[in-house]
Amino acid sequence: MAEPSAALSPLLKQATPVLAARGEGVYIYDEDDRRYLDFTAGIGVTSTGHCHPRVVEAAQRQVATLVHGQYTTVMHRPLLQLTERLGGVLPDGLDRLFYVNSGSEAVEAALRLARQATGRQNAIVFQGGFHGRTMAAASLTTSGTKIRAGIGPLMPGVVVSPFPYAYRLGMSEEEATEYALRELDYQLATVSAPKDTAAVFVEPVLGEGGYVPAPAAFLRGLRERADQHGILLVVDEVQTGFGRTGAFWGHEHAGIRPDITIIAKGLASGFPLSGIAAPHELMEKAWPGSQGGTYGGNAVSCAAALATLDVIEDEGLVANAADMGARLTRGLAGVAADHDVIGDVRGPGLMVGNEFTAPDGSPDTATATRAHKAAAEKGLLLLTCGPHGNVVRMIPPLIVTADQIDQAVDLWSQAV
Ligand code: PLP
Repeated sequence: MAEPSAALSPLLKQATPVLAARGEGVYIYDEDDRRYLDFTAGIGVTSTGHCHPRVVEAAQRQVATLVHGQYTTVMHRPLLQLTERLGGVLPDGLDRLFYVNSGSEAVEAALRLARQATGRQNAIVFQGGFHGRTMAAASLTTSGTKIRAGIGPLMPGVVVSPFPYAYRLGMSEEEATEYALRELDYQLATVSAPKDTAAVFVEPVLGEGGYVPAPAAFLRGLRERADQHGILLVVDEVQTGFGRTGAFWGHEHAGIRPDITIIAKGLASGFPLSGIAAPHELMEKAWPGSQGGTYGGNAVSCAAALATLDVIEDEGLVANAADMGARLTRGLAGVAADHDVIGDVRGPGLMVGNEFTAPDGSPDTATATRAHKAAAEKGLLLLTCGPHGNVVRMIPPLIVTADQIDQAVDLWSQAV
C-alpha cells in the first residue's frame, strides 16, 4: 500500500493504492511482495511484459554505449536500424518515419504534417476520440470533459462528428456506420468544406472513449471520402498498434491504408518513444526545424524498440493476442451473462471493455468503479474508460497465457 506523500501533487492521484516495487512478465509486485495480475500493462505499453529479458539486455547494452545522440546533430545506429526494421511492418507506402517521445507529441506531429502537406487548416475528429493532452492533441480529443475543461481556448478548426458507437446509440453496427458516415458527409457539406479540411483523425478502436471498435465499413467509408476530397486519413494507432488487437495494426481489420499512422505505447515496451509514418511525398512537405524535440528518437528507446519488435515476432505475440483475446472475451461474456450490471463486452484481441449499464439503460459508473476497485483488492489490476467512466477495460501484456486469462476471468467474476 502506498502512503500518500504530502509533497505529491493532486495531479498524481492514483486509481489503486498499489506501490509497485518490481514487474515481471504479466505481474507487478508491491513492496510487501504481494503479486498482482497486471491487466493494464502501463496503459497498453508493456506489451512484451514487464522487464522482458531481451528488452532489458538491449537497453542495458545501449545505456553503456550511447544514451543520447540528438539526431539533428549526430545520427546513431539504433535509430537507423529501427527505421529499417519498422519499414518491414508498416503499411505499404508509409516509407518515412519521424520520432518523438509520447503519443500526444506524435499526434501534434501528424497534425502539423497534415497542415504542412495540404495547406488546409481543419481537422475532423470523432466523438469519444482520445488523442492526448498537449494543447493541439487535447483540441482533437472529446472523450469526456475532464481533459478539456478549464484549459481553453483550444485550437480552432476542429470539427467533431459522431462515432458509430452502436451499443450506446441503440443501433446495429450497420445502422450506426450508416448514421456516422451520413453525419460526416453533412459536416463536409456544411461546416468543414473539403478545401479547408486537412485531415480526419480516427482510432481503429476508441481507447479512452470506451473500447469501441470502429466497424470495418466505417473505416472504409472514411478512406473513400478522404480519397474523394484529397483529405488525409490519419490513423491513431497509439493504443491499437504492435499486435494489440490481434493484427499488427488496428486498421488492418478493415483492409485500409492510412495516409499517416501515429505510433507509440507498444513500440518500446515502456521506454518513451513515439512517431509518425507517412509516404515520402507527404513527409517531404515538412521542412527541417518545423518539427522535432530534444529527446526524440532516443538511442536507448530505439534499442528497446528493436528488441520489442524481435520479441513480438519471435514469440508470435500478434497471434497470441488474437487467441488469448478470444479466450478473454469468451470468459468475460460468461461473467456478463451471470451479472445484469454488464450490458456489453467487446473489443478485438487483447483490448477488451466491459460496459456497465443501469437497469434504465444509462451508464452505471458507480458499479463499474466498485468492480474496478474490488478487482484490485483481489489482485487484478484494471483500468476504467469511456466518457462516463463506466467501462472497465482489460489490456494485458501480449505474452499473457491461457492460465493467466482464466485466473483474471475468475478474479473478475468474484469482483463483479
Ligand atoms: N492517442 C491515443 C489513441 C491514446 O490512447 C493516447 C494515450 O492513451 C494518446 C494518443 C496520447 O498518448 P500519450 O499519453 O503518450 O501522450
